[in-house]
Amino acid sequence: MPEGPSVRKFHHLISPFVGQQVVKTGGSSKKLYPATLQSLWLQDTQVHGKKLFLRFDPDEESGSPGSNPLPEPPQKGARKEETVAPEPALGPSRLKTSDESCPSVELDPSGSDVPEGLGKIPATGAPQWLQVSFGLFGSVWVNEFSRATKANKRGDWRDPVPRLVLHFGGGGFLAFYNCQMCWSPSPVIKPTCDILSEKFHRGQALEALGQAQPVCYTLLNQRYFSGLGNIIKNEALYRARIHPLSLGSLLSASRREALVDHVVEFSTGWLQGKFQGKPQHTQIYRKEQCPAGHQLLKEPLGPPGGFQRLTWWCPQCQPQVPPEEPQQLQHP
Ligand SMILES: [Zn+2]
Repeated sequence: MPEGPSVRKFHHLISPFVGQQVVKTGGSSKKLYPATLQSLWLQDTQVHGKKLFLRFDPDEESGSPGSNPLPEPPQKGARKEETVAPEPALGPSRLKTSDESCPSVELDPSGSDVPEGLGKIPATGAPQWLQVSFGLFGSVWVNEFSRATKANKRGDWRDPVPRLVLHFGGGGFLAFYNCQMCWSPSPVIKPTCDILSEKFHRGQALEALGQAQPVCYTLLNQRYFSGLGNIIKNEALYRARIHPLSLGSLLSASRREALVDHVVEFSTGWLQGKFQGKPQHTQIYRKEQCPAGHQLLKEPLGPPGGFQRLTWWCPQCQPQVPPEEPQQLQHP
């Protein structure tokens, strides 16, 4: 799924449409009923981690004056975060990411069983936020549709079908692909956890990393590292020279700090590259060798019963901690 830098780019693409009315809708979403967005005004958009939030109001006037953010350059990051509600306390056993917070599962292309009412815009009152979570091939397109880049197994060139298309009064349109959408009363992700937010709280992140569990599990936990995905995980661990299965509690404070530095540096660089049209350079993700020429190891890693993510590491540049322990994962 797109990681924080990609979703921030989507947010940047959507921002110019804030303040415009939806004049026509389309898309394949069976849960959301795209037609319910007809005539609503897009009054705000926010990005938190890997999620986008779009606020719709029935009236043009209901948006607070001057609240519409301008398209935001990546360096400035003048985001609005005052509507963020606190998150419920997190129990220590809770290892799941917050990616499942949408009540509907729309990534299934069949989209068959549709519970009644889930997609209806909630009762009026508070402003309504459309929460968008992206799937593996999730994307947002502006004023054009995604096209097939290759034929499928049967040899057909079939273009991807957007989940949601919003045509605006200004003449432009947005198309959302491979995403899961639901209504929420407010964006409920803390900006202090967002690795690309100015409010990202390093102390909180360092504390989370100090848990007695493999750091590669903690890094993907969106409650602590919102926006961090598998590419950032692999690259930051390599750059910090930390073995993915190192227990955070065994790492020194300075090594944990170095890891957080690499997370932020890599993510910020990736985001800036996106605005300059440059692809992000990876050192080990999907590679055979590390930059020093060592053979990489690759294995699905994740918490017991949790999602296992393919992880790359260099057994020489990223030795197990503590080093005196037998290195069962050492490459011959
Ligand atoms: Zn190496």
